[in-house]
Amino acid sequence: MTHTTATSNYPATGDLAPHPTGADNEVLLTGVLIYGEGEPTDVLIRDGVIAEIGADLSGKLSDGGETIDLNGQVLLPGLVDMHVHLREPGREDTETIATGSAAAAQGGFTAVFTMANTAPVMDNPSIAETVWFKGQHTNLCDVHPVGSISKGLRGEELTEFGMMADSDAKVRMFSDDGKCVADPRLMRRAIEYSKGMDVLLAQHCEEPRLTETAVAHEGDTAARLGLSGWPRVAEESIVARDAIMARDYGGRLHICHASTEGTVSLLKWAKEQNIPLSAEVTPHHLLLTDERLETYDGVNRVNPPLREQRDVDALRQALIDGIIDCVATDHAPHGSEEKCCEFDKARPGMLGLETSLALIAQIFVLNGDQDWRFVARVMSERPAEIVKLPGHGRPIAVGEPANLCAVDTNAQWIARGEEMASKSRNTPYEGMDMPVKVTTTLLRGKVTCRDGQAQTSTTAGA
Ligand SMILES: [Zn+2]
Repeated sequence: MTHTTATSNYPATGDLAPHPTGADNEVLLTGVLIYGEGEPTDVLIRDGVIAEIGADLSGKLSDGGETIDLNGQVLLPGLVDMHVHLREPGREDTETIATGSAAAAQGGFTAVFTMANTAPVMDNPSIAETVWFKGQHTNLCDVHPVGSISKGLRGEELTEFGMMADSDAKVRMFSDDGKCVADPRLMRRAIEYSKGMDVLLAQHCEEPRLTETAVAHEGDTAARLGLSGWPRVAEESIVARDAIMARDYGGRLHICHASTEGTVSLLKWAKEQNIPLSAEVTPHHLLLTDERLETYDGVNRVNPPLREQRDVDALRQALIDGIIDCVATDHAPHGSEEKCCEFDKARPGMLGLETSLALIAQIFVLNGDQDWRFVARVMSERPAEIVKLPGHGRPIAVGEPANLCAVDTNAQWIARGEEMASKSRNTPYEGMDMPVKVTTTLLRGKVTCRDGQAQTSTTAGA
């Protein structure tokens, strides 16, 4: 297997000027249902900010302004994903900041946090700044780099949180995701160090001694298929440990990709004690179970692994109850040679950005269980709050930044890896019906997705 080496394909520094503001023009969204509620209304956006909301605002649009007819579509705040892997630098053959940003815009996202397990590892300010500027240069989505907690993800020595937090990238979240900060003494130091800078620590909960060689959830399915098991206790023991650390040492701790019923019980306990601990869950852990492994298709390998129906049920209820705070995709692109191979050789991870909103709508909204306000809460407002991200996850109201997405609830589509904006194809939803579609995304008033297509440099300017 050949890997593309990390070549320097970044634009010259002079090309990296940030684009902090959105369009300076006007956009009128007509006929939207704000949070899916009430009567269709118009939203006028001026200089990247929501200027007016009301019936028939077409007369207020200046010459040269753009009207986007969204007849009856649901308008939500732009989505925020606390957990993606955009693979740059190091694996630009599987995803880049540009292709990942396009996938994000097409999924309705206006801000994503890209994890530190790049090559080289995002453990210093210069890599974080390069990623941040490249995201701003692409200008389809705010791409926030996540700094690693330990140097080189080796779990031995802390990185310089302060230098990354003070850099132009303003790193506000740190994580060794992909690996657990298993050493309790290092985790304690990380918490104590993080408190002075008020940054978030996101833990990938996996006691490594319990998951050596593990490729599938430890249960009947793995036993039958002869796959080595990843027990729930490997996750839950770290969740419990870190909850107790957060209780005694404070800080702001976040649990990545909660996957078990027992983790839900521990989070419930922690929240009842007012311990500062938040948690996310992925769409795949809310939908799929380890029965998918029957085919030995590597596309279903993910970390933590797909679990059982009782875990899925507990995770769904926990998200509804607020015990789990938010949805994060853990968008993890991989090349076909890393997925189309023996199951235990396949790299763990799945695409997620372009299918997540449709799946969350299918699981929670279209059956009448929850409303679109719930989606706004778990996919935009709560993640922005947890990371303390200004300008995103805000109410749809006059004077607020125009970070928005529109969802057509009458547009079904079929998930096809090869049609996705992502550079990789490893979606576990291949061929599945998606019941709603993001048509339009705006980042500070700039249209980043139009008619379901990300506005990359080749498609923009129409
Ligand atoms: Zn992880």
